[in-house]
Amino acid sequence: MKLDATDLRYITSDEFRVLTAVEMGSKNHEVVPTTLIVQISGLRNGGVNKLIGSLAKRNLVSKVQNSKYDGYRLTYGGYDYLAMRAMSKRDTMYSVGNQIGVGKESDIYMVADAEGNEMVLKLHRLGRISFRAIKSKRDYLGKRKSASWMYMSRLSAQKEWAFMKVLHEHDFPVPKPIDQVRHCILMEFIDAYPLRQIDEVPSPGKLYSTLMDLIVRFARAGLIHGDFNEFNILIRRESGEPVVIDFPQMVSTSHENAEWYFNRDVECIRTFFRRRFGYESSLYPRFKAIASDDGSSEGRFKLDIVVAASGFKQKDMQILEEYMDAVKESEGDVEEDEDGDEDSEDGSEEMEEDEETDEDEDEATAEDSKAEENTPEADGRPQTP
Ligand code: ADP
Ligand code: MG
Repeated sequence: MKLDATDLRYITSDEFRVLTAVEMGSKNHEVVPTTLIVQISGLRNGGVNKLIGSLAKRNLVSKVQNSKYDGYRLTYGGYDYLAMRAMSKRDTMYSVGNQIGVGKESDIYMVADAEGNEMVLKLHRLGRISFRAIKSKRDYLGKRKSASWMYMSRLSAQKEWAFMKVLHEHDFPVPKPIDQVRHCILMEFIDAYPLRQIDEVPSPGKLYSTLMDLIVRFARAGLIHGDFNEFNILIRRESGEPVVIDFPQMVSTSHENAEWYFNRDVECIRTFFRRRFGYESSLYPRFKAIASDDGSSEGRFKLDIVVAASGFKQKDMQILEEYMDAVKESEGDVEEDEDGDEDSEDGSEEMEEDEETDEDEDEATAEDSKAEENTPEADGRPQTP
């Protein structure tokens, strides 16, 4: 999807009000009834219709005709817009450049601040997979029947942000986190190639042990990356030093399947080095040895606990994990939902409504908008619930 930041600063304040009203309404409505949009926005009825029309023309909201009522939903574009606008208001981001990556669950863009300093914007895109298939398998949402892509994408960004911050503060080689809003993370641009693209290194053995040491260092700090592979390891162009990215799936070493995750990370590196560089070593880290070795310097602080204390709640972690598991489980028999903006014609299952208010979520939205409206000088703190 194309991002358009050119008119980020030129949306009228009434249009912004309406867009925010659609976002707020989405917290407990898959399709936000027009009447509710009018009510939340606090604007005159006639005026709102025109404003919604102009937002729909710019693909920030889309009209959905449902069996029960007509309404609108926020599109990916609308959610992107709200996040980027908030960053632009806080002066963390000013302009959007090229897309440099597209993963299954993210889009990556080059962006810049007002001085032209380059940064990377990662937009989390969970829920491109149809929820219907997943929902039938697991009741992972509890009372929240409508696991919106917005909610899951935001959780994923919040988790990545929490981990990236803690890792950066403890001098792990990760990009410097700059800002987080909704489903987006702004971070330092690393001038590097993914390991995946590298055919030759001066010393495979040295890089191998640097990476294994990193896995061990993570584990001593209570963490397992969970997706430690050639796609998520960047090799700096200048120095050849590795930088690790992509943290939404990180787990604690006290996770029930910790050893399995740990071994998978180790195996990914071993396999890659064997295939790509013909390098094999009988030396590789064992989870048990690390778990029992608590006397080391990093054994004294547990970053999994630091993260838990940072505001990203255990409950959120669980919801995200179950979602990711459910996606993995149903991979293969899941229909791809090409564009989350479009809705399926049938109003039944996906349109299920959850009139129950989810407090966490509503608080978060209210906070998001409040922070945005009242504290334009916001200090780059994430809008975590
Ligand atoms: P995904 O979850 O979709 O795998 P990643 O965080 O792994 O997303 O990023 C996808 C790709 O974008 C990476 O493989 C890398 O090429 C590029 N990328 C991500 N973050 C950065 C960064 N901070 N600096 C440079 N390139 C990056
Ligand atoms: Mg990745």
